[in-house]
Formats: sequence, C-alpha cells, structure tokens
Amino acid sequence: MAKMFINGQSVSAQSGKVLDVLSPVDGKKFDEIPRGEKADIDLAVTAANNALVSAWGKLTALERGRLLVKLGEKVLANHEELALLEARDTGKPMTTARTDITVLARYFEFYGSGSDKIHGMVLPFLNGYTVNVLREPLGVTAHIIPWNYPAQMLGRSIAPALAMGNAVVVKPAEDACLTPIRIAELARDVGFPEGAINIVTGLGEEAGAALSEHPGINFISFTGSNEVGVLVQRAAAKNVIKCVLELGGKSPHVVFGDCDLDRAVPIITRGIIANTGQTCTAGSRLIVERSIYPQIMEKLAKQFSQVKVGTPDMDLDCGPVVNLAQRERVEFFLKEAQKSNIDVVAQGVISPGLPKEGYYVTPTLLGNVPINHRCNQEEIFGPVLAAMSFETEAEAIALANGTDYGLMAAVWTENGGRQQRVSKSIKAGQVYINSFGAGGGVELPFGGVKKSGHGREKGFLALEEVSATKTVINYHG
Ligand code: NAD
Repeated sequence: MAKMFINGQSVSAQSGKVLDVLSPVDGKKFDEIPRGEKADIDLAVTAANNALVSAWGKLTALERGRLLVKLGEKVLANHEELALLEARDTGKPMTTARTDITVLARYFEFYGSGSDKIHGMVLPFLNGYTVNVLREPLGVTAHIIPWNYPAQMLGRSIAPALAMGNAVVVKPAEDACLTPIRIAELARDVGFPEGAINIVTGLGEEAGAALSEHPGINFISFTGSNEVGVLVQRAAAKNVIKCVLELGGKSPHVVFGDCDLDRAVPIITRGIIANTGQTCTAGSRLIVERSIYPQIMEKLAKQFSQVKVGTPDMDLDCGPVVNLAQRERVEFFLKEAQKSNIDVVAQGVISPGLPKEGYYVTPTLLGNVPINHRCNQEEIFGPVLAAMSFETEAEAIALANGTDYGLMAAVWTENGGRQQRVSKSIKAGQVYINSFGAGGGVELPFGGVKKSGHGREKGFLALEEVSATKTVINYHG
C-alpha cells in the first residue's frame, strides 16, 4: 500500500482508513492510498511550521537552490520508474508520461537556479535614512493539485514555493497521487530536511477542505474545477491569506485564411487530443475564417480519423481518461451535441479488444457548433474539438472572448498587424501566435483571467507570488 509523506516519514492515515486506487485501463483496483483527514492535515501543517524554524528554515537561498537542482537530477535518474508510475495511475500513454517527468525535472532545475536571483531593493529616501525592501517567504504554503498532470502540477506548484524558503503541504488528487508521494521520497533522499515537503492523500471534501481551511497556512494554490476553486477562495478569505486559482479554460484557436495550414492542422489536433483532452489549456475551440472553413475541416477530419486510443503501454495518441466520472462527462457532452444535431465531422478510433470497464472515450471533431452551445461554453476535459466560422476580425475576437474562461489562446495568421491586434484583444493569460502550448512552458508566466482564475505560476513571477516584501526603514542620522 502507498503511504503518504509527513515530516520526512512515510505514514498511514491516523484513522487507518484507505482509499482504493483504480486503474483507468480496466477499472480494477491495483493499490491503496491513505485516506487522510483533518488530523493528518494538522500533523502536516505542524511539521511544515516546525521546518521553518529548524533545519529547512536555516538554509541559505543557495543551499535551497542546490537541493532543488539535486532533486531535478534525481527525477531524471529515476525517469522511467516515475513515468511508468504516472502512466499507470492516470492512464496516460507512455510518451506523454515521459514528457511530463522531463518537465517535472525542469521545474526543479529552473526554480533551483532561481532561488538566489530574486532580490530585495535599497530605496532612495530622506536624508539620514536607509530603506531596505526585503523579500521573504510566506511561511507554510498549501497546494491542492488535480489528477490530469500530477507530477507536473506538483513541480509547478511546490518548486517556486520551496525556492523562496516556504514549507509545503500538498493535497494531491485522490485519483492520481502516486507520483507526488514518490517525488517527496526522492526529495528526502537528496537531503530535504524533515517537514519541508509534506504530502497528505485523501478525499477533496475531507483532506482538501481541512487543508484549505487550516488556520496554520499562509498561502494556498489550487488547480481544478471552478466549483471547488470558489470553496478554496472562500476558505482563504476567512483566514485572510493569498490564494492562487487555476480553474481551467475553453481555449480558442483563431485561424485566419492566410495562415500556414500545414503547420497549424497537426498542432491544433495535438492541442486537443494531448493527454486525452484532460488539459486546462486544451485548445478546445476552433474559430476559422469562413473562406477556409471547408479546407481546414477536411484536413482536420483526416487527422482526427487517424487518432488512436489505447492503453498506456500501447502508447498511442490517447489513453483512457482518468476515471468513470470523467468518461461519463465526455459521453454526456457528445450526447448533448447529438441532441442538438451538431455535425460530427470525424472521430478517432478506440483500439479493438480494450477492457470494457476501462475509461475510453472517442476523440471527436464537431463542426458548426453555435457559440452558446454547452460544447462551446463548458470545459469538457476530453478530446472534443468544437469548430465554428467567422467573417470579420471583429467577429473572430468576439467569438474568442465569448466564454467565461480566459486561460490560453492561439492566433494563426501571417499578417503581422493582425497578429498584434488580435493577440492584444483576446482576454487570456497566454496567447500563442502560429504555435500552441510549446515545450512545457516552465519559463513562461502562466495563469488565467476571467473565470480561469487569478495569480501567476511558472516563470519568475511565481517566485513573487509565494513571497512578500518587507520594507525596513532605518533612521541613522
Ligand atoms: P476537483 O476540483 O474536484 O479536484 C481538484 C482537486 O481539488 C483534487 O485534489 C481534489 O481532491 C480537491 N478537492 C475537491 N473538493 C475539495 C474541497 N471541497 N476542498 C478542497 N479541495 C477539494 O476536480 P474533479 O472533480 O477531479 O474534476 C472535475 C472537473 O474539473 C473536470 O472535468 C475539469 O473540467 C476540471 N478540472 C480542471 C483542472 C485544471 O487543470 N484546471 C484539473 C482537474 C479538473
């Protein structure tokens, strides 16, 4: 049975309760995790608070950075083991899992080398004064992460927090927490002091709620659904702490008639089928200039009909989705499209002979989807692309901004002026031009506007989110 990780120790829940871990491949149980609750969260928050005033809190920025870099190296040294674990727990194809572990290592490398590069300031002030602006950690930071990229999300959330000297308590998703636990063990092996990293497994409404409401935390970062994001923000407000929310998206590709279609089409396809569509930044809406709509749909249909779904070992384009609820969610949206007589332009292929109890869904390209349809408004979190067309640039921008979300977008055009106008007019935290979601983006500030959330992760801005300035005004005459 997997154990969780508190104060440098692998432990069971204090209650002894466990949760079953089911394989997305066939729905069968293959492990158990501790069902942590409030008592376990209390222990983890206490351990983190103690770490701040003991070995962990006494390290210099350079020493913290070196530990993070070492952890990145350790992740790379255990790359295949971690990728197998990630694929087994989430159902990802092995190639995706391997990429995720490479990006995870990159988070530790990037923030490890950044820990001593965020400086304070000395400000000019009145004669006889020296003013120092110090940058300090927030204290205990809480991180509630989802199941779609457990390894990457762990790295993205905790690496900057640790680099700045915070101690972390993580509540991974009950559907995928085996890699986060293993990474905490690797962190212990490279020398992270006890209490610096704590992982409490369990249900969202138990361990997750207990962590977000805990008076001993000083910051919380949450990635997941809007419904839970609101609960987390409410809990943060009660404790008057800062909260970063990353709540997903309905990211559009805006494609103009002059774009390089041969470059765009495979990237657009990849942008929705990657990770079986379970990606907050999935490019789930396609907004195409009417003159090339038939042409792009024909090319995309060809791509979609070749998308193959199988087990992680088969290493095809898509694996199963993470759980039964997620499979039913994707199927529900496809039925909604059918009820509204929306064109199913093309579908991928589920490999024959897969277990019936596995969580496989059919990648689908939908055509001429009205902007107000649910498939165009709600996050399906599956490999379903909704296409629509436009006449004018203004109409394209209105469609791109026509949902509650604002996480990521892409603009496809060779016209330089239009690249600038459209990317400035789209409300989103990131806009790609003639590209989409390249390279993991560890270096690139990331986060949402509108209902996609607030606060920034990735890049150097994340270091600012998990720290605060203190202005010291010294009169010395
Ligand atoms: P969720 O929001 O319920 O779960 C995300 C995390 O929050 C998990 O760790 C979970 O245990 C925790 N959690 C759940 N209830 C909680 C509570 N009351 N207090 C504190 N923490 C709590 O997401 P889900 O139900 O697993 O997925 C539902 C939908 O959310 C998906 O279909 C998708 O649309 C969206 N989602 C988005 C992302 C993203 O990356 N933005 C990730 C996962 C899911």
